[in-house]
Amino acid sequence: MTNNKLQRRELLLGAAALAAGAIASQWQTKNAIAKPKFSQYPFKLGVASGDPLPESVVIWTRLAPDPLEGGGMPPESVVVQWQVAADENMRQIVRQGEAIATPELAHAVHVEVEGLQPGRWYWYQFQAGDVESQIGRTRTAAALNDTLGQLTFAFASCQDWQNGYYTAHQNLAKEDLEFVVFLGDYIYDGGSRTDSVRSHRTPAAVSLADYRNRYALYKTDPNLQAAHAAFPWIVTWDDHEVQNNYAGDRSSFGDSPSAFLRRRAAAYQAYYEHMPLRRDRAPQGSQLQLYRRFTFGDLAQFNILDTRQYRTPQPCGGGFKSRCQEAFAPNATMMGHQQEQWLFRGLTRSRSRWNILAQQTVLAQFDVDPRSRSELFNLDQWDGYVAARQRLLQFLAQRQPSNPIAITGDVHSSWVHDLKLDFKNPNSPTVGTEFVGTSISSNFPKQFIPTATIATSKNPHTKFFNGTYRGYVRCHLTRDRLVTNYRIVSTIRQPEASVRTLASFVVENGKLGVRS
Ligand code: FE
Ligand code: CA
Repeated sequence: MTNNKLQRRELLLGAAALAAGAIASQWQTKNAIAKPKFSQYPFKLGVASGDPLPESVVIWTRLAPDPLEGGGMPPESVVVQWQVAADENMRQIVRQGEAIATPELAHAVHVEVEGLQPGRWYWYQFQAGDVESQIGRTRTAAALNDTLGQLTFAFASCQDWQNGYYTAHQNLAKEDLEFVVFLGDYIYDGGSRTDSVRSHRTPAAVSLADYRNRYALYKTDPNLQAAHAAFPWIVTWDDHEVQNNYAGDRSSFGDSPSAFLRRRAAAYQAYYEHMPLRRDRAPQGSQLQLYRRFTFGDLAQFNILDTRQYRTPQPCGGGFKSRCQEAFAPNATMMGHQQEQWLFRGLTRSRSRWNILAQQTVLAQFDVDPRSRSELFNLDQWDGYVAARQRLLQFLAQRQPSNPIAITGDVHSSWVHDLKLDFKNPNSPTVGTEFVGTSISSNFPKQFIPTATIATSKNPHTKFFNGTYRGYVRCHLTRDRLVTNYRIVSTIRQPEASVRTLASFVVENGKLGVRS
């Protein structure tokens, strides 16, 4: 990059800027250090890209020469140069500019690169002072009016750094994909474990400094960096980005409401700082609107949902229980009214052949009690929000958006469920299919496997279960079908592993339900 002198007129104040609102007023370009000197490599957290549109993509990095101790940057703004090229050697530069890394955003930069060609690979690189970052690769979405023949992506979730190595990311990075959808639990908020392959070595995250250090720790992983550098990511979160099983403004660990909202604000801020998100996703206090939509030609539309921030508290005290009356409360919600209306409007207007709901917790009903005469449900999932789920299933049955497919994380195990208008009645209409991917590294307790296997026969809409393996799901969409490949790694106890396909499933265009 040093050979391509960046020119002042390329300074992209608006486009390369950082965050909207209050944060924006805090940064002062004229005081930014133009030629910073670093005692250590400042790009230790790698590079990333995401939120692809037909002519634009976000590129991200964060200057953090001392990543686990607050980043190690002075409390001043620093100029970061960026370049986007049409080739992997960064020779054919198509866009370049400067961004300001501010202490208010932990010296993270989110550049919205505009004016790109649709459906194309690009390479990008940052520079601060004399130091160049790694080169990342990214890809724009197909043009909206494109009759797109195929699309390959993967989805993944739940990367408890302590529980295992990211061998799934090592292999994900080598796949032939156009993007990755990450469905939450990017970090785990908890304290240190001593019985695992790696240890956080810090207590549970509470403050902004804690959450920043936790993201930095996770992002030092070379396999995670490789997966980010290989593809753009479209991210959403689940609970562990803040606290296990929180619901809206309600802590599940008894934090007072005001203390919990402060914690949530810190967690959301750190999330924004470390993810390749656009400026319009910058947090506003304890709010961050993460739900949004991506379209790939006329082939697929992805509705990226947030079922944490706006949900009502888990009913019946949460946990695994048979349902009390509260689980059927008509005003209970997973998405909140606004997001739910936004989703229904989007699905109604969609002209895409495949309509994907990318979300966190299991949508299908699953009675985990292996005994035939009693029921047991995970009340943190949609099973605790029966009326909210029924509104969605009813909508799918009545409006019939083309080929609805849910992709889900959270349960650290692999599942396929057909979505039924009435799960209690096997003859009721199938309204879509849900693919639940296993974790990157988070634990699925071995002792649950026999119980879940027996319970599967009680849930006839459930077509597949495996709790043994870690990995991710590769999806190949064409105009005729969706093929999902459950990719599993040989181990997470060692830094490297092989990958293979555990199982594959097909949904045919126009035929609701997984092909069996
Ligand atoms: Fe998880
Ligand atoms: Ca979770």
